[in-house]
Amino acid sequence: MSRILIVIVIFIVIYLLLKYYRKQMPKKDVLGEDTSKHRENMVRCAHCGVHLPKGESIMVDHKHYCSEVHRHAHTDEPE
Ligand SMILES: [Zn+2]
Repeated sequence: MSRILIVIVIFIVIYLLLKYYRKQMPKKDVLGEDTSKHRENMVRCAHCGVHLPKGESIMVDHKHYCSEVHRHAHTDEPE
């Protein structure tokens, strides 16, 4: 009877080790995804062509500008 108990204990230990090992694995995948998500959308100034983050740009008529001066300069120009 004691041999059966030892075998059962060994199986429980193996099961717990596998369960613990599987919990550790997905963390590496989550860290890999985080590095690729830290990119902010970049837009191009319609007047001078400089690239800047979308949040810092001035958007008029679906066009982005780097500054208020360039927005005026571009919209005053006849196309
Ligand atoms: Zn500009």
